[in-house]
This record gives sequence, structure tokens and C-alpha cells, in this order.
Amino acid sequence: MRLNVAIDGPVGAGKSSVSDAAAKRLGILHLDTGAMYRALGLAAVRRGIDTGNEEQVVALCREMKISVSHGEDGQHTFLDGEDVSGLIRTPEVSMAASTVSRYAEVRKEMVRVQQRLAAETDMLVDGRDICTTVLPNATAKIFLTAAPEERARRRYLEMKEKGQEEPYEKVLEELKQRDWQDMNRPVEPLRQAPDAELVDSTHLSFEETVDAIVRIVEAKRNG
Ligand code: C5P
Repeated sequence: MRLNVAIDGPVGAGKSSVSDAAAKRLGILHLDTGAMYRALGLAAVRRGIDTGNEEQVVALCREMKISVSHGEDGQHTFLDGEDVSGLIRTPEVSMAASTVSRYAEVRKEMVRVQQRLAAETDMLVDGRDICTTVLPNATAKIFLTAAPEERARRRYLEMKEKGQEEPYEKVLEELKQRDWQDMNRPVEPLRQAPDAELVDSTHLSFEETVDAIVRIVEAKRNG
């Protein structure tokens, strides 16, 4: 049986890094779906397209080929064949990704690609709509979150480490803005699926969070 693990959660819950570690422990690939929306956000920024213009963003989505590959060092994300993995982590692209992901036609295309990938291989998939839309029949479903202040603190430290220091208050403000946008969009808003298990990592270390996820998956896999 195909092993598919679905993890959803808000900005900065540590989804990407925790998902990476959990997938390694489980011996399966990790698909970071946020990177695909980020690649489209980057394309819009580069072209100078207003991300609020649905028609232009949808046309761009149809025109550009967004793909991923998995190597020893994890996922690489491509925009028309160009590896943009290192270019999609800026605050500007984060906001653009959140805006372009509001559009139904964009989501339809991304979901189609994600479902195809997850059908081909055992995979842990993380995002916002994985439990609800992309993999409704996943082996295990998890909603990973933490208090906004703790998520902002982690993001602040992560950015500082990369030399992209911004005031903590600004990071918190942007995070709350993105949360709001992700939870209030009309199409597939971020929410905990009724059958997803909640993992609140506010008071958990990185390792403890990974342990909690691996335990849930093993219980489902063996149960
Ligand atoms: O997870 P990450 O922060 O990289 O995602 C960037 C943006 O892409 C999110 O703010 C969200 O709006 C969008 N997204 C989404 N659905 C997903 C993954 C990401 O709408 N499955």
C-alpha cells in the first residue's frame, strides 16, 4: 500500500524542516508544496505582474512549468527548468506566494501535479490543503502548529542566521498577515481537517516534534 503522509499548518510552524526530518526517519520523500506556490510568486515578481491580478497570474501559471526533483540534499524546485530553490525564500516571494495561492485555477493546477507525484511514490507532503484536498485518503494526517509569537521567534532566528535580519515585530506582523490571508481566502483556506491529529510544537523541541509525527505515522501504518 502507498504510504502518504499529509501535514498542514500555518507559517513558521517548522513544517518544512520537521517534515524533512520525519520523512528521512520514515525512509520516504518529502514534497514541500509551498515551494511550488513560491516559484509562481517569484515568476510574478520577476515579470512585474501585479499578484492581485487574477487573470494575469492564472495566465502565468499556465505558461510556466513548475517542477520538483528530489536528490541527496532534498527537494529542488524548478521554474521552466531553472533551479530557483535558493531564490524563493525571501519575504517578498513569501507574500507573493500567499497571494497567488488564492486563485482557484492556480490551486487546481498545483493540486493536480502534487497528486500525481504522491501517487507515484511513498511520500510525506506538507502544505496548507494537503489533508483536506490533495491527499484526503492519506495514511496519516497531521495539523502542525505553534503559538504565533513562537513561530515568529523561530522565523526571526532562521532569517538572522541567513543574514536576512528583520525586526522581530515586523516578522510577527508579516506572519499574522499571511496567516490571516491563508485562513480567509475563499478557495481551500487553511484549516485543521476534522480527521487530522493536532501537533502543537509551542513547547516541543525540534526532535520532540519529529518524534510525535513519526509516532502518529507508525501507529496509523501498523494499525
Ligand atoms: O509553506 P510556505 O510558507 O513555503 O508556503 C508559501 C505560501 O504558499 C503560503 O503562505 C500559502 O499561501 C501557500 N500555500 C498554499 N497551499 C499549499 C502550500 C502553500 O496555499 N499547499
